Amino acid sequence: AFEGLAERLQGTIQRIKGKGKVSEADVKEMMREVRFALIEADVNLKVVKEFVKKVSERAVGVDVMKSLTPGQQVIKIVKDELTELMGGEQSPIQFAKKPPTVIMMVGLQGAGKTTTTGKLANILRKKYNRNPLLVAADIYRPAAIQQLQTIGKQLSLPVFSLGTDVSPVEIVRQALEKSKEDHNDVIIIDTAGRLHIDEDLMQELKDIRALKEPDEVFLVVDSMTGQDAVNVAQSFNESIGITGVVLTKLDGDTRGGAALSIRSVAQKPIKFVGMGEKMDALEPFHPERMASRILGMGDMLSLIEKAQANVDEEKAKELEEKFRTQSFTFDDFIEQLNQVKKMGPLEDIIKMLPGAGKIKGLENAKVDEKQMGRVEAIIYAMTPQEKTTPDIINSSRKKRIAKGSGTSIQDVNRLLKQFEDMKKMMKQMSNMQQQKGKKKMKM
Ligand code: GDP
Ligand code: MG
Repeated sequence: AFEGLAERLQGTIQRIKGKGKVSEADVKEMMREVRFALIEADVNLKVVKEFVKKVSERAVGVDVMKSLTPGQQVIKIVKDELTELMGGEQSPIQFAKKPPTVIMMVGLQGAGKTTTTGKLANILRKKYNRNPLLVAADIYRPAAIQQLQTIGKQLSLPVFSLGTDVSPVEIVRQALEKSKEDHNDVIIIDTAGRLHIDEDLMQELKDIRALKEPDEVFLVVDSMTGQDAVNVAQSFNESIGITGVVLTKLDGDTRGGAALSIRSVAQKPIKFVGMGEKMDALEPFHPERMASRILGMGDMLSLIEKAQANVDEEKAKELEEKFRTQSFTFDDFIEQLNQVKKMGPLEDIIKMLPGAGKIKGLENAKVDEKQMGRVEAIIYAMTPQEKTTPDIINSSRKKRIAKGSGTSIQDVNRLLKQFEDMKKMMKQMSNMQQQKGKKKMKM
C-alpha cells in the first residue's frame, strides 16, 4: 500500500532535507508536490487543501529550532500533520464497565466484516484475555453464517447462530442472553452488508443498536475503494453512528487515500487495519507509524535527532567541505567511525536510514563489528603522513602496517581500496548534487 504516495513524498523530502535555509518559494514548491501526491493517492480534496494550508503556515519561517536544519524541520512538520490527519494517537478499544462488551461490525458487502470479526476475536482473546462470542446476524446469505462458523472452528471460539429464519434483532437479543449463561465478556455481532447503502440496511442496524447500546460500532471499509470508502464512512456515521473504523486490505496496492481522509471527513478514528486474509492479520492503527511509513522515513527523525546530539554542525560542515575538495583523510575516516559508534550499534542506524528497507537483503544486515575493529587497528598503525597521503603506502609500508595492526596485507589492501572507492563516490555525489541544483525540476 501507499507506494505511489510514498515515492512522491520521498522525492520531495530528498530535495528539501539538507536545506540550511528554507525560503517561501521552497515551501511553495514542496507543497505543490505534496498536494499533487495526495490528490494522486485519492485523498479527499477538501482534506488536501486543509492539510497543505496547515503545513504551509507552519513551514514558513522555520529557522528557530537549533537541533534540526530548516529542511529537516519542514519534513517534521509534514510528518506531524500527517499523524494528526490520521488521528494523532492510537485509539484503543472501548470496553463496557459491566460486561459483556458489545461490538457491532457494520459495512458494505465484501468489505471484510466477517473476516474482521474473527481477527478481532482472536486479538481480544490473545492480547486482552477475553472470552468472546461471535454472533452470526447476517441472515441474508446462508454462506455468511457458514463462513463465520468456519472461522469460529478455526479459532476454537463459539459462534451463536439461529440460522436464516430468525430476525437479526432476535438473534442478537438471544445472543446477549447466551453470553450471560456462558460468561462471554465480549460479543461481536457480524451484521449483513449490502452492495450499496440503503434504508432497510440502516433500519436493521438501528434496531440491533437499540437492543443494547454497543460499546463499539466498527465500520469495516475496504481501503481499495479509496474515496468511496470515505463516503461510506460519512453516511454510516450520519445514519447509525459509528465509533471507529477498521480499514481492510491495506496489504493490497491501495493508494492510501482512505487512510488519510477518513478520520478528517467522518471524524471517527481508524482503530485497526487489516493486513491480509489470515486470522492474525489485524493490527492496531498507529497514526505516527503510518506517517513515518508513508514518508519512507523509517525512524529518520529519531536518527536526525540522535545525529544532531552527537555531531556538532561545524564538524559536519567541515567534513562536507573535505568531501568536496577531496581532502578527506584516514584521520577523518576514523573520526567518522567514532561518531558513528557514539550513535549506537551500526545495525540500528542502518535500519533507520530512509530507503534502507528497499535495499534487498539489508533488512537482515548485520554489521561486522569485528571488521570495524580491524579497520581501526589498521588506521592506527599508519604514520600521520600515511593517513593524509595514502598514495605513499607502498608494499613495505603495507607489510609494516599489517604487522603493527595484527592484520594481513590483504586486509590493508582492502581498506585502501575501499577508501579510494569512497573518495571517488563522494566526488561523484557532490558533482551530482551540484548538477541537480542547476536542473529545473519537472512536474
Ligand atoms: P464481508 O462481506 O464484509 O463480511 O467481507 P468478508 O469478511 O467476507 O471478506 C471479503 C473478502 O475480503 C474475503 O475474501 C476476505 O478474505 C477478504 N479480506 C478481508 N480482509 C482482508 C484484508 O485485510 N486483506 C486482504 N487481502 N483480504 C481481506
Ligand atoms: Mg460477511
